[in-house]
Formats: sequence, C-alpha cells, structure tokens
Amino acid sequence: ASGYSLLRDPHHNKGLAFTEKERDAHYLRGLLPPVVVNHDLQVKKMMHNIRQYEIPLQRYQAMMDLQEKNERLFYKLLIENVEELLPIVYTPTVGEACQKYGTIFKNPQGLYISLKDKGRVLEILKNWPQKKIQVIVVTDGERILGLGDLGCQGMGIPVGKLSLYTALGGIRPSACLPITIDVGTNNEKMLNDEFYIGLRQRRASGKEYADLMNEFMSAVKQNYGEKVLIQFEDFANHNAFDLLEKYRTTHLVFNDDIQGTASVVLAGLISALKLVGGSLADHKFLFLGAGEAGTGIAELIALEISKQTNAPLEETRKKIWLVDSKGLIVGSRLDSLQHFKKPWAHDHEPVNAFLDAVKSIKPTVLIGSSGAGQTFTKEVVEAMSSFNEKPIILALSNPTSQSECTAEQAYTWSEGRAIFASGSPFAPVEYNGKVYVSGQSNNAYIFPGFGLGLIISGAIRVHDDMLLAASEALAEQVTQEHFDNGLIYPPFTNIRKISAHIAARVASKAYELGLASRLPQPENLVAYAESCMYSPKYRNYR
Ligand code: NAP
Ligand code: MN
Repeated sequence: ASGYSLLRDPHHNKGLAFTEKERDAHYLRGLLPPVVVNHDLQVKKMMHNIRQYEIPLQRYQAMMDLQEKNERLFYKLLIENVEELLPIVYTPTVGEACQKYGTIFKNPQGLYISLKDKGRVLEILKNWPQKKIQVIVVTDGERILGLGDLGCQGMGIPVGKLSLYTALGGIRPSACLPITIDVGTNNEKMLNDEFYIGLRQRRASGKEYADLMNEFMSAVKQNYGEKVLIQFEDFANHNAFDLLEKYRTTHLVFNDDIQGTASVVLAGLISALKLVGGSLADHKFLFLGAGEAGTGIAELIALEISKQTNAPLEETRKKIWLVDSKGLIVGSRLDSLQHFKKPWAHDHEPVNAFLDAVKSIKPTVLIGSSGAGQTFTKEVVEAMSSFNEKPIILALSNPTSQSECTAEQAYTWSEGRAIFASGSPFAPVEYNGKVYVSGQSNNAYIFPGFGLGLIISGAIRVHDDMLLAASEALAEQVTQEHFDNGLIYPPFTNIRKISAHIAARVASKAYELGLASRLPQPENLVAYAESCMYSPKYRNYR
C-alpha cells in the first residue's frame, strides 16, 4: 500500500509516531514533517487540543475526528483519561450529538438497516468490512437516553457504547458493530428537519416492526454464529421487554437499560450494606418509576434475596414497592397494568401521592428511576431520614436536569446522613464543614466487563445469575478507603482492572451453568481476561 493511503487508514495510521524506518519502508518520506514523536506525546497534545474547546459538543466532534483518523490514539486517550472523556463520548454529550446528528454527520460510523431493506438484511450485514464480529449494539432510536425518539439519529448511542466496550472492556474495535434499525420516527422535529438522515415516515409497529426485527435477528445469527453478543440499547419499554423475552432463549442478548442498570444498582446496594448494616433481606425498597430501569432493578434485587434466603421469588418481591405515574402499584390496579408491572402489585390500599407512599411503606432504600426531576422533595428526604438512621437514596434519572434530587439536596435535607448515589455525576458537596463525595451508578461499570466475560467464555446465552455475579464482582472492588469517603462505587480510574474482575466472574458463572463453549476453562480467569484485552499500543510495521 502507498504511504498516502496508510496515513488515511485509521486502523494503521500512527501520524507523527511513524519511525524513521517505517517512513522509509512504507513510502512515507516527505508525507510527514521531519519530527518523530512518541505515543505519549501525541496523547498529551490531543488532550491539550480537546481542552481548548469549551463547548462539550466540540470536544465530542474532536474525539470522533480522532477516531476516524487514528484509532489507537483515540483509544489510548480514552483509556488514560476515562473520567474526563466518558461524559464526552457518552452521556450527557452524546445525547446532544444525537439531537444534532443530521447536521454534524460526517461519516456513517455504523450500519443502517431500514424498512426499505426488508428481505435484504443479510446482504447488508455482508457489506460491513469486518467479518469477525463479537459485539453488536443495536438501537431503534425510540428512547435515546432521557431524550425520547430521535429516530435514525440515535446512531450516536451504539457508536458511543461500543467505544466504551473497547476502552473499558478491551473488546477489539474491529470486533464491534454499531447498528441502527430505522423504522421511522414519531418525532415531528426530526420529520420536519431538512437535514434529518433517516426515513421520513411515522414509526412502524406491530407485525411490520416485529418482522423486520426477526429478519435482523436471524440474519445476525446466520452471519456471525451463536456467540455474537447482541446488546439492545435505548428501545422504548414496550418493545424492550418483548424483544428480550422473545430472543433470550435463542440468541446471546443483553438489554443494558434493563439488565445492565439492574446489575450496577444492585452492586451499589450490596456495597451500601457495608455502611448501613444488615443483609438485603432486612431492607425495604421503594421505587419512583416502574419502567425498564425500575422493574429491571427490582427483579434483580428480588432474585438476589431469593438466592441468599432460599425464599421463593413471589415472597422476596414483596419487600419491593414501585410507584409509577398513576401512584403506588397495588393489587386493585392489576388488570390495567402493563405485564412487566404485574409482579409488583402487592396488597395495599391505593396511594396516589409519592410522599404518602413513602410515609406508608417506610422504605430503607429509595430509588428514583422515573426520568422526572426534582421528585425527591425536601419532605420526601426528611421522611426517609425520620425513620432511617442512614437512608439509602439513589436518584438515577439522567441527564442531570432529570435527577430526582441533587447530591446537595440529599445531604442537606438528611443532615448528612444519606448514603447517596446518582445516575449523572455530581460534584462533591460541603455540608457542616464535612465534604461528601457521591457515587455514580453508571452502567459503564458493568456492561464492558460483562460482555468481555461472555466473549472469553464463548457463552451462548445470558443468564440472570451472570448479572448477580457481575454485581458481586463490582461491589468487591469498593475498598475501605472508598467507604470511609461514603462512596459505594469505586473510582473509574481502575476501570480496566474492574472489568477484568467482572469478566472473570461472569465467565466463571457461564462455565458453571454449562453455557460456555470455550473449552477447556482457563485456570486463572482474571489473568485470562486481562490477556484478552485490546491494547492501544502501536504496532511496529516492518
Ligand atoms: P421508562 O421505561 O420510560 O420508565 C419510566 C417510569 O417512570 C415509568 O414507569 C413512568 O410511569 C414513571 N414516571 C414518569 N414520570 C413519573 C412521575 N412524575 N412520577 C412517577 N412516575 C413517573 O424509562 P427507563 O428506561 O426506566 O428510564 C427511567 C430513567 O432512569 C431515565 O431518566 C434514565 O436516564 C434513568 N436511567 C438511569 C440509569 C443509571 O443510572 N445507570 C440506567 C438506566 C436508566 P408510567 O409507567 O405510568 O408511564
Ligand atoms: Mn441506554
């Protein structure tokens, strides 16, 4: 290949880091200025450049440009500056990028499958240049973060998630495939936007939707085999639960909004117990929000308690209460409830106001998964603090504006007694001369390691016990020092080590359950997971 094309190939380009010998051997002389710099200096320079941009979206674009120019530099930057860059390549900035995707769009970045392609999905998969795919993240764009239906412009999400699979979980970039299924959009703004990149029609539903999804799922299995992981991302809840139910027995599928969220929150609760005492079974849980996140978390907590106490799920679910937009979920509402809410309709008189539900249930743990900001009011937090020495309060809704309460409110209203974590990050809070640092229950703790565990074991199905294993592995990574600071999650700086531990536990569970196809089982799974991880180190070209 010519030197010129080498410089334009993101998988091989090293920019100014090409050595003198490489410049001679690959016809690069003159195409680069004389200086030869090392990888570390390139990282330093790029970080300097990125920090010059004050607008987050510009930082996002600079990162995307880099990904398209020099992949290894992109990943080295992301791995070494994960806390700073995570909010750029992922939430919240990626949300804004999706909203404006039509205008900032430069490169397709992933695979687009639309209603027009019915009957040809397999052909389309074959157009993708990489053949050995291990992880697909797919969205239909209907519920992008807390931003709603962004249609085809949801592509930013699978792209962002997969770059975290590589940076945090060590999956090779060439093994990752972002896909957007375009069945139209019900977003008027998109439909009327002259720069919109998707199908200009209302969303297909019912059989038309199910048929395209079915063709897609079959084509994926036919093209990539049984061991490709398909992660469903940001589907609206009416489709999300159905797709997971339908394909969990025939494909290796994982829904991050339901299962990943559940696993990361359960991990936070397991580690919070070290601060408040007791076992999970000793606690009582109340949720505001009974959708993908809320019911997913609730189910995994019930499952963990059931494993720990040998009590049947029907019993352990009774420790968990949920409130949706119509009030407390109770028996008298059973007939009108969506199916995923039915298991949570316990015996209780109807309660409309959330504050009344809090006062009546008297939970020890309060979880916000409603997408509705400022719903954990002063009265709610004060009530929690009146019947709990250390109330556990998780305000999970994203982005920051939708958080059920802020860290400052949680600490102030509980007079410094709350154990608090949130979905979006909050800066440390000073209250009465003490500094409180709150944790972020970010799904990025779980899904990269979880996926790595499935891949290194050659798992063919996801089992709920693997989610429990991932939660336990994450909780174990929280040290006494973190607890002393009130943290229930470890810092992100060691995320690759954390991912390797999660991967090992997930893989071990896959072997135990007979769902692993990579035989024999490696002796030291942590070491094996680490050895499988992609390194962004440059290769030498001879
Ligand atoms: P979803 O499936 O649409 O569910 C939202 C639920 O909240 C529904 O049950 C809805 O009630 C209820 N709700 C909405 N407004 C309410 C209000 N004012 N009062 C009471 N209930 C209300 O959405 P989701 O996927 O579960 O996501 C919910 C939120 O969680 C989002 O903001 C998302 O960003 C966040 N989240 C955070 C994490 C994390 O921290 N790691 C992970 C995933 C999601 P109805 O059922 O009656 O409509
Ligand atoms: Mn999501």
